[in-house]
Amino acid sequence: MTQRNTKRKDIKPASEARMLIKNGTIFTASDSFAADILIEDGKICQISRGIEPADRDKVINAQGLEIYPGGIDAHTHFALPFMGTISADDFETGTIAAACGGTTTVVDFVIPGKGQKLSEAVSAWHEKADGKAAVDYGFHLALVDVNKEVLADIPGIVKAGISSFKCFMAYKGALMIDDDQLLQVLRAAKEQSALVSVHAENGDMLAHLMKRFAGEKKTGPEYHPLAHPADAEGEAVHRAIVLAEMAKSPLHIVHMSCVEALREVQAARVSGQLVLAETCPQYLLLSDELYRKNGFEAAKWVMSPPLRHVSNHDRLWAGLRDGFIQSVSTDHCSFNFKGQKDMGKDDFLKIPNGIPAVGDRVNLLYTYGVRCGRISRNQFAAAISANAAKIFGLYPEKGTVAVGSDADLVIFDPGKTGEVSVKTSKHNVDYSAFEGFKLEGLPAFVISRGKVASEYNKFTGEKGYGRYLSRKRFDVHGWGFE
Ligand SMILES: [Zn+2]
Repeated sequence: MTQRNTKRKDIKPASEARMLIKNGTIFTASDSFAADILIEDGKICQISRGIEPADRDKVINAQGLEIYPGGIDAHTHFALPFMGTISADDFETGTIAAACGGTTTVVDFVIPGKGQKLSEAVSAWHEKADGKAAVDYGFHLALVDVNKEVLADIPGIVKAGISSFKCFMAYKGALMIDDDQLLQVLRAAKEQSALVSVHAENGDMLAHLMKRFAGEKKTGPEYHPLAHPADAEGEAVHRAIVLAEMAKSPLHIVHMSCVEALREVQAARVSGQLVLAETCPQYLLLSDELYRKNGFEAAKWVMSPPLRHVSNHDRLWAGLRDGFIQSVSTDHCSFNFKGQKDMGKDDFLKIPNGIPAVGDRVNLLYTYGVRCGRISRNQFAAAISANAAKIFGLYPEKGTVAVGSDADLVIFDPGKTGEVSVKTSKHNVDYSAFEGFKLEGLPAFVISRGKVASEYNKFTGEKGYGRYLSRKRFDVHGWGFE
């Protein structure tokens, strides 16, 4: 861990009582088996049948429960200044919602202001998170300027545990970089064995459409998806793949939303290129019909990329099942409907983009993935946790249930049912993007480094308990590539 945390005085002495989880069934990305788990000093120290508790051990009876590695949400935006406001969940409320929803690690995006020094932006993010986060966290870094100074800073940033960079091919005039710049980043990152993620939408196409709609006074939120066509995503994914091939660099596509993008990833993989992809629950479960109902309420789902036609859902689930999409994260970037989303009442271009989802992801994937028979329990463990850990340099400390790993666990009670609702949500916003979605099976216990962080949606953890995770470099060999 970093100095930042080892210096802090409020870290507890290591030897608290041990925890023993008895009689559960464990599911990792590769195995399913019944065993007890013994936890000491925040780490898993023994996994076997018939472990007997010592006097002071805290015992959790997991009879009939399913134990998975704690969720890793590798795509969050907490307390992000964006589009004239700041996202509503900060590192405290966001990680509490995460913990209650089965996620024990988040990786948030540091997004520097234009012209801001990278190290300054990273410090600003440490400040947002330190002493606030309830679960462990790491950072990605977005590169919104690309020049000599920025490129020269990359080795130091990677050394400090930020081993992945994000580039925007959209948001022209703000966050977007051009192809030449993206190539420079791909080459510089490859030299440091860092991974480049792209927000893949053709920013010029989007800007063209936005301008046209504005000229035609088409200002309602129903025009948001029309200004972000699926072809613009497919084109950008294709272009990013070609650029990565030229730079001989691996590539990661974030928040992939449609078949136009998926088939580019599939083609690249089939031709032997290392391209990885993430999707989000919203692209698997919600569709663009929401933009055409109830007038301005559509603003609740204004995000980029937008929700797509319902026909994409089955294709994305299949992409997840077949391994072309490795992980499901959220792109959690929450804004209140009243007071934030309504900044765009007269112009959809002013609606802050994003939805709340960090607390819903694991539950939705369990019900609509596992219980609906779309993915296996092992694929679920891979999608919510193991693959993100492998992609982002956290494995095997995170992402699995094994001796020596951090004791980060989500223990599902398959017999409990519920429903997603703003009433029970821990997100710091006035609506739920998945209101009314039925849930079959809920997290009974969520364990973060050996501490119970939540019990049946009740937060039992501690603000400030989360530690900064210095992440390892991207391992191409781990994916079978040279
Ligand atoms: Zn994002």
